[in-house]
Amino acid sequence: MATSVIGFPRIGENRELKFSTEKYFHNEITQKELFTRAAELRLKHWKLLQEAGVDYIPSNDFSFYDTTLDTALLFNIIPQKAAELKLSPLDKYFALARGYQGEKGDLKALPMKKWFNTNYHYLVPQFDKTTRIKLVGNKIFTEFKEALTAGIKTRPVLVGPYTLLNLSEFANGTKPEDFISQIIEAYTAVFSQLNQLGASWLQLDEPSLVKDMSPQDRALFNKIYTALLTKKGSLKVLLQTYFGDVRDNYTDLIKLDFDGLGLDFIEGRKTLELVKNGFPDEKVLFAGIVNGKNIWHNNYQQTLATVKQLPATKIVLSTSCSLLHVPFSVANENFSPEVKAHFSFAKEKIAELGELSSILDGQADKLLAKNQKLFTGNRIKSNKKLKEKIAGLTEEAFVRTPAFAQREVLQKKEFKLPLLPTTTIGSFPQTRVVKKMRARLKRHELDQKEYDIFIAGKINEWIKWQEDIGLDVLVHGEFERNDMVEYFGQNLSGYLFSKNGWVQSYGTRGVKPPIIWGDVTRQKPITIKWSKYAQEQTNKVVKGMLTGPVTILNWSFPREDISVRESTLQIALAIQDEVLDLEANGIRVIQIDEAALREKLPLRKSDWYSEYLDWAIPAFRLVHSQVKPETQIHTHMCYSEFTDIIPAIDNMDADVISFEASRSNLEILDELQAKNFQTEVGPGVYDIHSPRVPSVEEIKDAIRKILQKVPKQKVWVNPDCGLKTRGENETRASLENLTSATKEVRKEL
Ligand code: GLN
Ligand code: ZN
Repeated sequence: MATSVIGFPRIGENRELKFSTEKYFHNEITQKELFTRAAELRLKHWKLLQEAGVDYIPSNDFSFYDTTLDTALLFNIIPQKAAELKLSPLDKYFALARGYQGEKGDLKALPMKKWFNTNYHYLVPQFDKTTRIKLVGNKIFTEFKEALTAGIKTRPVLVGPYTLLNLSEFANGTKPEDFISQIIEAYTAVFSQLNQLGASWLQLDEPSLVKDMSPQDRALFNKIYTALLTKKGSLKVLLQTYFGDVRDNYTDLIKLDFDGLGLDFIEGRKTLELVKNGFPDEKVLFAGIVNGKNIWHNNYQQTLATVKQLPATKIVLSTSCSLLHVPFSVANENFSPEVKAHFSFAKEKIAELGELSSILDGQADKLLAKNQKLFTGNRIKSNKKLKEKIAGLTEEAFVRTPAFAQREVLQKKEFKLPLLPTTTIGSFPQTRVVKKMRARLKRHELDQKEYDIFIAGKINEWIKWQEDIGLDVLVHGEFERNDMVEYFGQNLSGYLFSKNGWVQSYGTRGVKPPIIWGDVTRQKPITIKWSKYAQEQTNKVVKGMLTGPVTILNWSFPREDISVRESTLQIALAIQDEVLDLEANGIRVIQIDEAALREKLPLRKSDWYSEYLDWAIPAFRLVHSQVKPETQIHTHMCYSEFTDIIPAIDNMDADVISFEASRSNLEILDELQAKNFQTEVGPGVYDIHSPRVPSVEEIKDAIRKILQKVPKQKVWVNPDCGLKTRGENETRASLENLTSATKEVRKEL
C-alpha cells in the first residue's frame, strides 16, 4: 500500500531555517546564502522522505514564513502599498510578514491568526477593490523542478481556492464571490504550468471544509471546482482536508472530478461513517491515519482495523495533517529508551506509515506484535486514588457558594477598593538581567540562595513602585517564571519536557510544548513562597498568580490513553491545592489565567458545548470552588474574540475577568451589555503587544468607552495582557499614565 505525507516541518532538525533567517534579518548573511541554506534543507527533507519509502512526497510545503502568504503572493494578492515598496521580492515578502520601517517606506505587517485549531499562525491575505488575482509567482514551480533535478518527483502543495478565500479579509465592500472567475483562471494557470513540467499530482489543501458550511459556502466551493476541474488536463488533483471531517459537503466531494480525496480519520469524528456510506471506485482515498498533531506512537492494531473497514478500492496511507505541528525527531531527546519507545515525532511518523504499509501487505507481522506491546503493558503506574477522587466528584465540587451576587457585596466590603480599581495582568518585564540570572542558576553558576536574593530584590523594587504610582491591586511580577505552563509543569508529577521538541508557531518563532506523560498531581507548593513574600512587603493586596488547567492542557501534548477531560480535571485538582494553599497563606486575591481557553474551541459550532466547554468550564470552576466567599478570584483571557461564548465565560464564575480588548473593543462591550454579563470586567485599556506608550487621554477615552457599556461598579482598569515582553521604561510610563487617567475619570463619576 502506498504512503503519502501532507507536509513536513520546514524549520529543520535543529531549527536551521530559523537561525539562518534570523541571521539574514540581522544582516549577518546575504540573500544568496539564505537561499542556499533553504535549498539544502529542502533537499535534505525530500531525501529523508524518499529514503523512508514515502510514495507521495510534498513540495512547496517549504516556506520562509508562511505558506498562506506564499499562496497570496503567488497570485498577486498583495496590498497596493506593499506592492509599491521598492524592496527585493524576498524583502517585500518579509515586510508583509513582519512589517517594515526604514528608508524605503513604512508598512504594517499583515494580520496574523491561528491556523485552525493549532498553535501555528498564518498571515491573513487582504482583498480590496484593487486586488487583481493572477498567477505572478513561481515558487511552486521552482521547488518542483529543484526536487526533480535531484531525482525526486514531488507532489506540489498549494492552499486551495476555497480555503484561501475563506481565510482572507475583504475590505471596501468586496466579497469572495467577486473573485471567482479570477481565482479559477489563476489556478488554471498553475495546472497548465505543472502539466508542462510533467507533474503527476497536485495537492490542494482545503481545511476550511471541516468548519461549518452554509449553503452559500457549498455553492461557492462547487462553483469554483466544477469549473476548475475541467481544466486539469493530465494532472491529477488531490483535494486534501484535515483537522476534522467534511460532513457538510462530502456528497459534493465524491461527485466532483477530483482524482484523490484526503480525509482525516484522527480528528474527523465522522470521517469513517461518511466513507462507509460510499466512496467512488475511480478515486484514490488518502486516508489520514497517522496523527500529525500528537507525539504518541500510532496504535497499529487500531489503525489497521480502521483501514480494513474502508470501502475504497484505491487507498493511500497518509498523515492526518501536515507534520508541521510536531517536532522533528525523537532521536534527539534524552528520554530513557522505555519512554522514548512511546513517542513518535515527524521522522518517526514517516517510519510508521512505512511499517503500517508493510503490515497491510502481509510482510511484517513482527512489527505488529512489537507495536502491540506498547499498548498492552502498563506504560505508567496509574494513580488509583486520583482516579477515584475524580470519579467521585459531585456536582457541589464544581459550584462555589454563595452565588456571585452575594460574593460581590461581601468582597466590596472586604477590600474597600475605589471605583475603577487598577491592576495589571501579572508579569513585569523579563529583562536581560532577569533571564541571565535564571540561566546562571540553571548552569549552577549561581546557587539558589543568591538567585532568591535577586528575585526578592526585584519583587521589592516593583512592589514599592506599584505603591508609588497608586495601583490598587498589586502583583509580584512573575520574575521567577520562565513560561506560564513550563513553570507549573516542572512542579507537577506526570510532566515530561523535551530538549529539542520545537514546533513552529509563526515565522521564526517556535514553542516547545511539554508532554503529559502520566497522572498529574501537585508535588509541592509552587507559587506560595513568592506570593507570600510579596504580600508581606505591603499593606495593599497582592494578587496570587496561577495558570489554569485548560491553558496548561492546551499548551501541552496531551495523553491519548485517557480523555482530555480526565487529564484536565487532574490538573484542575492540582491547581486547586495551590489555590487553597495561597488562601491559607494570606493571599486574598488569586488570578487563575486561562489565556488559551478560547484557543481550542472546536472548529464546528455544534461541538462547542458538547465537546469542549462542557468540561473546560467545569474544570476551571473546580479549581476555585472551595475558596472562602471573601477570597476574590480573577481570571485572564488573551483573546477578545469570545463574543459568541459570553455566557460560558460568565459561567466560569470568577469574580473578575481581564481580557485583551484594544483591537475589537466596542464589539465585545456591546455583547457584554446585551448578555448582562455578571462577572466584573477589566477590558484591557491599552495594547501591550506594541512598545508604544499610550497617552493619558487615550486611556481616558478607553475607560469612558467601557463605562458607556458596563456599569461602573463592575469595571476594572488594566493593560490587556502581561508585561513580560516589554521594556522597563515603557512599562513604567504606560502604567503611570494608566493610574493618572483612572484618577481623572473617577472624578467624572
Ligand atoms: N499572568 C500572565 C502574565 O502576566 C498572563 C500571560 C498571558 O495571558 N499570556 O504574563
Ligand atoms: Zn494575556
